[in-house]
Order: sequence, then C-alpha cells, then structure tokens
Amino acid sequence: MSQDTRRMVIAGNWKMNTTLEDAQELARAIAAGAPAHEGLDVILIPPAPFLEAVARVVSDGPVTVGAQNMHPESGGAYTGEVSGAMLLSVGVDYVVCGHSERRHVFGESETWVGNKVAAAHRQGLTPILCVGETLEDREASRTSDVVLSQLREGLADLGEAEALATIIAYEPVWAIGTGRTATPEQAQEVHLAIREWLTQTYGAPAAQLISIQYGGSVKPGNAEELLAQPDIDGALVGGASLEAESFLAIVRASARAI
Ligand code: PEP
Repeated sequence: MSQDTRRMVIAGNWKMNTTLEDAQELARAIAAGAPAHEGLDVILIPPAPFLEAVARVVSDGPVTVGAQNMHPESGGAYTGEVSGAMLLSVGVDYVVCGHSERRHVFGESETWVGNKVAAAHRQGLTPILCVGETLEDREASRTSDVVLSQLREGLADLGEAEALATIIAYEPVWAIGTGRTATPEQAQEVHLAIREWLTQTYGAPAAQLISIQYGGSVKPGNAEELLAQPDIDGALVGGASLEAESFLAIVRASARAI
C-alpha cells in the first residue's frame, strides 16, 4: 500500500476468553492507552455476550468493536445464532468471517463464509474476511491456491464497492495460537499474491485501498518487522490482545508504521 494512503487496522480477537468484568476492564485499559492517530483503526473483538458492554466502554473514543461471527440471515429460527442486525443494534461495526477456527473446527465452507461476508455488508457491518493455509497446504506448495480460492469465494457475492470495503486478514493456520509466526518475508509473499489478485480483479488504485491484515502469533516483539512490510496493513491479534499492555505495544508499532 502506498504511503500516502496507508491505513493500519489492528484488531484484538479475544476468542472465548474473559468474563464480563475482565472484558470491561481490558476495554477500559486499551481505550485509555490507544492513540487517536490518522489512518489507524483499533478494533476490539470480545465474546458475543460482552459486545454491548465493551461498546459502551469505548463509545467516547476512537476504538471500535467487532464480533467474532454472525449468521447470514437477518433473523428467524436459528437457535443459538446471532444476526448482523443484532450486532449493529448493540454498537458493533465489524464482524470476523471465516476465522480458521470456524472453518476447521466448525466446518464452515467457503460458500458459507461468502454468504456471511455478503450479509455483513447488507446489514451495515464491515466484514473482516480471514483466509489462510494449513501446514499441510504449505508443505504441498498449495498456499496461494488455497488462499486465493478462499478470497475469491469470500468476495464472490459482492459488488465492487463492497469488495473494496472488506478487510482481508491473512492468517496462516499453522501460526495461529502456536507461537510460530510467519517470517516477515513469508507473510509479505502471500500478502503480495493477495494484492496482485485484487489488482487483477478491481484495478490497481482500488486494490491499494484494501487493508490486508496479518494474523498468527503477532506479539510486541515481532509486530514492528511484520508491519514494516509494504503489503501488510495491520494485524489480527489473538493471544497478545488479552493483555492491555501487549496489545497497546502492537497498536503503537502500527501507528509508527503509517
Ligand atoms: C487469531 O485468533 O486470529 C490469532 C491470530 O491468534 P494468535 O495471535 O493467538 O495466533
């Protein structure tokens, strides 16, 4: 992404962690320490029951809130599910679609993820579309085939404006929660392949505007190097987002990279 348009998106995915009190305290500490910086978006992604409480905590500042998942229908007989309209009504702006834990633990297909991405846009949310290969895929040299197929299917039902307003998160499955990060070069190689696909599909100026986050064991100690790569426009952070100081260190590193 060229320097004059550079935007960094740093999101903390809390997964199935925290109690209500922990969530409010963590959100308070992050909201108090996050710099308001031009081109920097900081998103907290707590468990669904705490979304409204976290949205209230951050409502006066630049920090925003995302959900970990949603159902593509706007309402109806889907026991246990949450719709985009519900998320919007409690102050949520973003929703993660196709996180690898949803794809691999809960068996979500590429088509299902694409349905959610389209529904998120229809309902007024910004989707964060996660893509990424397994270790087996990487070792069989299938990384770009897998990632570009997930990207194509994830964006399939969108008009161009919606596609361009989608955030992409490249998260190699073997790096999530393992402490094993992709090297900056490995990450940049896949981000570039994504950017090239976006360029072929939507044209160069538009492709430059799409944020492509990296996710997979991002920590304060490796954030700077990853975020210095030309096609890495932010980070989707799991484990390190559960501690305010380590998440804020990543946020500060991203502000320096803008
Ligand atoms: C994630 O949950 O998307 C993630 C990248 O987790 P971690 O940072 O813990 O690897």
